[in-house]
Amino acid sequence: MIIGVDLGGTFMRMGRFDGGIVHDLKVVPASVFNTAGGAELLIEAIGEYCDASERRPEAIGIGVPGTVNLRGEIVRLPNMSFLNGARLASMIEQRCRASCFVENDVTMLLTGDSERMNLKKGVVFGMYIGSGLGGAIFSDGRLLRGRNGLCEPGHITIYGRTEPCACGKTGCAEAIVSGRALEALQAAKHPETHISELFTVMTDEEMDDYTGVLANTLAGVIQLLDPDDIVIGGGVPKMKGFPRADIETRVHGMLLSPIPASTLKIHYSADIEDNASAGSPGVYGAAVFAWRKFGII
Ligand SMILES: [Zn+2]
Repeated sequence: MIIGVDLGGTFMRMGRFDGGIVHDLKVVPASVFNTAGGAELLIEAIGEYCDASERRPEAIGIGVPGTVNLRGEIVRLPNMSFLNGARLASMIEQRCRASCFVENDVTMLLTGDSERMNLKKGVVFGMYIGSGLGGAIFSDGRLLRGRNGLCEPGHITIYGRTEPCACGKTGCAEAIVSGRALEALQAAKHPETHISELFTVMTDEEMDDYTGVLANTLAGVIQLLDPDDIVIGGGVPKMKGFPRADIETRVHGMLLSPIPASTLKIHYSADIEDNASAGSPGVYGAAVFAWRKFGII
């Protein structure tokens, strides 16, 4: 049995993963950790969940919404700064006496999606558009990591743009196409429309800007990586009217032809028939990540 943990900005979700499916999902509001001693409370919450298991877990996987370096230290976790610099994996290993693997939450999502889509060979690039814009790359099933272990397509700068980004820079792709950027657009220009319907009321100009920046970012990565498969996921692509066809057409037009334009294969997380994650793809992905790592060790 493996325990998967998805540490989100609003909720922490934990689940037991056995026989390929997640069960016993537990949801804890992240606000309970936002106090003095937050790290200890978080570790104890995961520890208690381990203790309540019938069997001790073989491994634990934790996805975090921030940057984890190659040594497994959390470098930047904007919503939970009390964990910055923490070696969360070793702290959990001490408490739970099981191997623990901490990774960026987008890596965990792509792990889970590639497992369910059976994308285990070649280069797979995942781009997840949620409140931010994150990415991950797998090569023959192994996470591709550079000097610092980063993959940050959301912070590719779009020349000439000045929108402030959550990272502190300006003009990042994330500041234009993420869920947070869409919320800002909705509040400023379409306050009468619910955010879930925003794509259905955006003007041609707004839509053109959105699809152009997103396609530009995606096409840049594709030209560099020449991926076998691309996975697009996160909450934004599930929104009504998300312009899939326009984005694909524009990406296609930006790529070298005949290749890689003719070999472009884009998959959507939203199309996966989900009967394994108990409604929490982050928990599922974190568990599969730990399971794969545990199998390799
Ligand atoms: Zn940024």
